[in-house]
Amino acid sequence: MEKQSGLSRDWITEVIKDFIVESPLNSMQDGTGEPAWDEALTGFVSGADPIWQQYKEYIGAFHWTPWEVFNQHCPDENVSADQLTVISWILPQRKRVRDANKKERKFPAEEWALIRVYGEAFNTALRRHVVDCLEKEGVPAVAPMIAPNWTVVKSQRFSYASSWSERHAAYAAGLGTFGLCDGLITARGKAMRAGSVVAKLSLEPTPRPYTDHHAYCLHYTDNTCGKCIDRCPARAITRAGHDKEACRQHLALSREHVTNTYRFEGYGCGLCQVGVPCEAIIPVKQARVALERGELPSPPPPLA
Ligand code: SF4
Ligand code: SF4
Repeated sequence: MEKQSGLSRDWITEVIKDFIVESPLNSMQDGTGEPAWDEALTGFVSGADPIWQQYKEYIGAFHWTPWEVFNQHCPDENVSADQLTVISWILPQRKRVRDANKKERKFPAEEWALIRVYGEAFNTALRRHVVDCLEKEGVPAVAPMIAPNWTVVKSQRFSYASSWSERHAAYAAGLGTFGLCDGLITARGKAMRAGSVVAKLSLEPTPRPYTDHHAYCLHYTDNTCGKCIDRCPARAITRAGHDKEACRQHLALSREHVTNTYRFEGYGCGLCQVGVPCEAIIPVKQARVALERGELPSPPPPLA
């Protein structure tokens, strides 16, 4: 790994875009020949951003900073946090998949369950591909979500939590804020999946265009909406927030439905991600317009 890394944000964005277009793994796997995904949003954030330490304090000591996960897997590199960049991406659900799941009331549509399995398999391949492309250019990198020691732990505060969260990485990279149901509302809505890679690369971070971690959710901004509450078949969402344990139990039930009805091993739900105002856009008009105009809030964003 000796090449000079004159790599740019645009180069990485193109690597992701090209893989979406060219990889045969980007497939619904349902015989239609349709891709699982057709675009990505990308964001970049420094490994030295104070938000990583805030996550650790808020989520738990088990939650990795980029520096921790990078040094676990590349211990010989001897890097400091400011030599690292987290590359984060959002894969928005396609309209066909959203429309199918919108019709469901209890368990996921076949299209949604296919994406949960094969779309996520592509996302995993994308993580590997980004790491491989960087390493070919002499830039060591790691994808935390597929690190062998990534784990889920019981958490008193959150019921359960993990060593790395793609949604939190995306929030840090300026790609979206959290909604009442805990999903991340992005410029292309909440129906999406996310991925990330930590690389030994100094890049200009993308702006984080919000000052509040709930800035894109109508419930938190003007006490309206709550549509995700009605969409949840497990009653796991209330005005008080998201009951992760009830959600997890419903997801477990969905396995039987997917196997018996669609005849493949899978699971899913995501009913709260569709048929709601934040499905495919930022529903808070002021925030949406500000983002489109490229306006940025002045104070640095607090976590909570
Ligand atoms: S459906 Fe409404 S309340 Fe629920 S996350 Fe979206 S904007 Fe917030
Ligand atoms: S994923 Fe399903 S069970 Fe979980 S909160 Fe959303 S609608 Fe409810």
